[in-house]
Amino acid sequence: MTPAIEVSNLSFHYADGTEALRDVTFAVAPGECVGLIGPNGAGKSTLLLHLNGLLPEHPRDSSRVRVGGEPLTPDNLHKVRRQVGLLFQDPNDQLFCPTVFEDVAFGPQQFGLCEAEVRRRVADSLARVGLQGFEKRAPHHLSGGEKRRVCLAGVLACEPSILVLDEPTSELDPYTRRELKELLRQIPITKLIATHDLELVVELCSRVLVLDAGAVVAEGPTVRLLSDEPLMLQHKLECPHILRHLHPH
Ligand code: ADP
Repeated sequence: MTPAIEVSNLSFHYADGTEALRDVTFAVAPGECVGLIGPNGAGKSTLLLHLNGLLPEHPRDSSRVRVGGEPLTPDNLHKVRRQVGLLFQDPNDQLFCPTVFEDVAFGPQQFGLCEAEVRRRVADSLARVGLQGFEKRAPHHLSGGEKRRVCLAGVLACEPSILVLDEPTSELDPYTRRELKELLRQIPITKLIATHDLELVVELCSRVLVLDAGAVVAEGPTVRLLSDEPLMLQHKLECPHILRHLHPH
């Protein structure tokens, strides 16, 4: 089966010379939910930005990233980008319109859809994230959890086949974090989730990639990797409590 995401020998330096990705290779199968973990500065966000062509700034003809088998090259960047919904780490980077309606409608409008279809998508995706009736609210006046859900609605309104999420639960209180996890569980499409929330990884992801200093240093089933204490400590991570409970040492 063609992988949903395929990354082959991807390396990347920022303009100032910082080496952020080193020879990264992995694939995500259609429908799979994969966790991307690693210490701060490991390259997780940089990697996610490559998956919908926000990086590199000047895409090359022979891309090292394929989405649904299609390379992310200058020619098909727009087509491939529509398939990958990226949820930014900071909702304030994603929300920039005066109303929730405009923010959620932005993507579908860019696709040139008719007004009725845009309205349908906005209503559907707000309902999916539990924010019916929020259309006229100002995004910057919402709570952290509501902002995240508006961002998710905006991504879902584009009807992507893959969701790429950067720290979706950071800065949320435990209740709101649980709500968001449930929401993500109910979205049955391919997901790649970069996070420090290792309990989320245990609950939602069947497989994990560990990134450190720009390289994939381990990859495998979630429970096996996350209960490997030496591996976790070596990469500034820890065994999540729910696994300690399952496997008391
Ligand atoms: P993570 O998401 O795992 O915390 P990042 O992808 O944000 O890691 O960062 C990877 C490396 O790239 C770090 O060394 C970081 O300092 C560097 N970096 C991130 N963004 C930039 C940038 N815009 N310019 C230069 N270096 C950057």
